[in-house]
Amino acid sequence: MTTAAPSTFRAIDVIRKKRDNIELSREEIEALVNAYTRGDIPDYQVSAWLMAVVLRGMTRPETAALTDAMLRSGEVRDLSSLTARKGDKHSTGGGGDKTSLVLAPLVAAAGVAVPMISGRGLGHTGGTLDKLEAIPGFNVNLPVAKFRSMLETCGCSMIGQTAEIAPADRKLYALRDVTGTVESPYLICASIMSKKLAEGIDALVLDVKTGSGAFMKSEKDAAFLAELMVETGERMGKQMVALITDMDQPLGLMIGNALEVIECVEIMQGKGPADLRELCLELAGWMLYLGGASKSVVEGKQKSADLIASGAALKKFRQMIELQGGDPRIIDDFKRLPKAQHKTEVKSANAGFVASMQCEQIGAACVILGGGREKKEDSVDPAVGIVLHKKVGDQVAAGEPLATIHYNAEAKAQRARQRIEQSIEIAAAAPPKRPLVHGIIGRSI
Ligand code: URA
Repeated sequence: MTTAAPSTFRAIDVIRKKRDNIELSREEIEALVNAYTRGDIPDYQVSAWLMAVVLRGMTRPETAALTDAMLRSGEVRDLSSLTARKGDKHSTGGGGDKTSLVLAPLVAAAGVAVPMISGRGLGHTGGTLDKLEAIPGFNVNLPVAKFRSMLETCGCSMIGQTAEIAPADRKLYALRDVTGTVESPYLICASIMSKKLAEGIDALVLDVKTGSGAFMKSEKDAAFLAELMVETGERMGKQMVALITDMDQPLGLMIGNALEVIECVEIMQGKGPADLRELCLELAGWMLYLGGASKSVVEGKQKSADLIASGAALKKFRQMIELQGGDPRIIDDFKRLPKAQHKTEVKSANAGFVASMQCEQIGAACVILGGGREKKEDSVDPAVGIVLHKKVGDQVAAGEPLATIHYNAEAKAQRARQRIEQSIEIAAAAPPKRPLVHGIIGRSI
């Protein structure tokens, strides 16, 4: 919890120092974070400081001090009484990025507990909580005692951030969102790691996205952020790895909350698109390895594939849905999920190959349909979304469908169609294939 600032602390001094590129002490950063969390200094001073950080950057000790101060602004879960090792995965987000729904039950089925605290979608990216809430009855706001008991009985639980976890991040993130100060790797690192380290986990696998649908568009920037986060976690004694993975086109074929639940169930049924399955197995392999459930990543991947083939992952998903108040019958009958009233196809104007997809724009098309939020307080329509029929590199004939839009409002469907049409480039030749995993930071296989 926050402590009183030293009597000598003045926000203006800390702002000036950062503006002039002078390294801040741990005490100064702590005092700033604590004072802001308590409401003792105004938004305009913290906004000025955040912008100075965006422009000047932070040293490693400053980044560490900021993460610690944000982490200690709230509760740190003590899950030491759980005998199982605890692991989690965090993704920096993108279009169709739905691996969490597969990973929590899959990794729990292997004996590693997964206390997953997730977020909602903002901007073009989807959010795990919105996808889970597409399942009728599913409750993401469990009391702490229920969350803990689920970890004991089921091995996984997926909930939203509580008021007790890193409250400094809650305030700072909202301020960053409206002051153009989200895009700093130091601030992103402190924001993500303060929340993840508060979960009481032993191991963390980071999925840092790169490409047209990612926060970090270039591989170099993604690798820099990944290194910062791995270093921060290791300093706190956690088993860490970061995978730099592709977000130059949506992951899988479905974008939209209920549609993504369907695709995840299909993966757990041993079906579903190859890229989504491959990434789930890759991330699960690392989670099992760092969580002590396998001797290597390769063994972890094989074990995960076996748990899908045997139906154990799906059984765990069913159990988790039931325990969180959801309707597990959606697994056997997708018609029980919210369904859009209308569908329309987006057809290719030309014959050729899909050369590129502006992934951020396809995510934005889903938001236009109502599947995501323009503003934090917006509600989402769980039924709407986009199903892709082609991925980058696929051949397409003139007039062949590229995507199907699932919609509830005609005007929104028209706007979404325009976005999708403008986002998919058709060329005479297929582009070189991009790898799904661009790099691994922090550990060797
Ligand atoms: N996600 C977070 O939780 N924080 C950031 O700063 C960026 C993405």
